[in-house]
Amino acid sequence: MKKVLVANRGEIAVRIMKTLRIMGIKSVAIYSEADKNALHVKYADEAHYVGPAPSAQSYLNQDLIIEIAKKNNVDGIHPGYGFLSENPVFAKKVESSGIKLIGPSAKSMEIMGSKLGAKDAVRKFNIPMVPGTPDAISDTATALEIAEKIGFPVLVKASAGGGGKGMRTVYDASELKDQIQLAINEATSAFGVGSVFLEKYIASPKHIEVQILADQHGNTLYLFERECSVQRRHQKVVEEAPSAVLTPEIRKSIGEAAVNVARSCNYEGAGTVEFLVDNNLNYYFLEMNTRLQVEHPVTECITGLDLVEQQVKIARGEPLTFRQEDLKINGHAIELRVYAEDPEDNFMPSINQLARYKIPSGNGIRVDNGIEEGMQVPIHYDPMLAKLVVHGTDRNDAIEKMKYAIGQYDIEGIASTLNFGAFVMNHPDFISGNFDTHFVPKNWTHTEKERLFKHESTLAAHIARYIFEKEEKKLIVP
Ligand code: ADP
Ligand code: ADP
Ligand code: MG
Repeated sequence: MKKVLVANRGEIAVRIMKTLRIMGIKSVAIYSEADKNALHVKYADEAHYVGPAPSAQSYLNQDLIIEIAKKNNVDGIHPGYGFLSENPVFAKKVESSGIKLIGPSAKSMEIMGSKLGAKDAVRKFNIPMVPGTPDAISDTATALEIAEKIGFPVLVKASAGGGGKGMRTVYDASELKDQIQLAINEATSAFGVGSVFLEKYIASPKHIEVQILADQHGNTLYLFERECSVQRRHQKVVEEAPSAVLTPEIRKSIGEAAVNVARSCNYEGAGTVEFLVDNNLNYYFLEMNTRLQVEHPVTECITGLDLVEQQVKIARGEPLTFRQEDLKINGHAIELRVYAEDPEDNFMPSINQLARYKIPSGNGIRVDNGIEEGMQVPIHYDPMLAKLVVHGTDRNDAIEKMKYAIGQYDIEGIASTLNFGAFVMNHPDFISGNFDTHFVPKNWTHTEKERLFKHESTLAAHIARYIFEKEEKKLIVP
């Protein structure tokens, strides 16, 4: 592989190109109208325009992307995450164009792309699963029967769902029929597939996932777990590795379960198997993401491996050069997703120009960044600006490093998740490890926000008064 096209944008495109450069592989960027001056375009060895800002007309334009790749003698395509990364139709097209997709086969994507298909595939491996309907709901009477049996509340989930979208909690039998219909409509418009199913709603789960690597020679290994329970809208904001609560025995058992999930679909490449873990450390298979994950750097920190490098080597047909026994956990890593969102306002996107933007650096601090000072945050895409990652000798050390790094991060012009990250690092539940997927709704309450921002708002009020009085004086005494 001499030249790789990165079919993505933002921080992940830059992060992939960095590894390509280290490996001596040329990188090709694609960009939309909105990204003409983007960092990933500047970073690449060459860049090609793919269309107007909306992703449907640019980053999702499969045929044009493949055409650009062919015309420019590209021999590999890295899809990153989001966009085309889990699209089996695209994978098939790339496969038949003679270019290697850096990722699993179209077939594996197809199996794991459907949450129901995934459950079906892993059934023979005896992997614990959340109780629910085994197939898509075709009639509401049967669904009600099953819901009554597993007990309310239940979740109605879209089989094709992703990114935290397409999920509805139903607390009572009387709401079930309506909620199923709403979920079907939502899934049809969001994912183009209306298939929905029921899952028991686990009351206070932790989201724990396992990174796996599988080569083309039958070697499949687990690279330990990541804890991702700090979520808003079912989407992660803070992730860490390893988990603060798993025992070595459960770490091994959940790791081996993840390897079996990968085997069930003949997986190749880097992938993530997600689980919910209850208070008694029982784990239940949730889904598999057939791509590089946003939070992969925490795994890189604790294992010392570069996952993009591993992906490329696997795609080239090379066997893994280490065995399960060779892998050890070194220290502790935490990632904060730096989103252009206002945590004060329900994490709504905060889209504006970056008046000031300085990223922190230092020993054990890594920023995977996709934007520069003076740039406009585009409204068309995911509002994640960067990933702030720290690696410490242990969990406390990592927490302290994260607090320091957040303090050194300087963003003006937009609201971001930095202050929220500081709140998490200082919270007793996070510090003790005693938290679940309800951490945000439970703790990020009005009073907490007020307490945190009181100091800043008092300061702002003083400044406003000072300016006001100065202006007034000007009026009185010209
Ligand atoms: P991860 O699963 O890697 O932890 P996310 O769930 O946040 O991360 O998804 C990563 C990116 O992919 C985000 O930009 C998200 O918006 C996007 N994404 C994931 N799945 C889908 C989907 N089915 N449809 C649209 N966007 C998706
Ligand atoms: P997505 O494809 O959108 O990532 P997941 O099935 O991975 O969907 O679920 C995303 C998040 O939603 C989980 O991390 C968890 O917080 C919550 N969730 C999913 N299923 C359940 C469940 N059965 N009970 C409780 N929470 C759930
Ligand atoms: Mg998920």
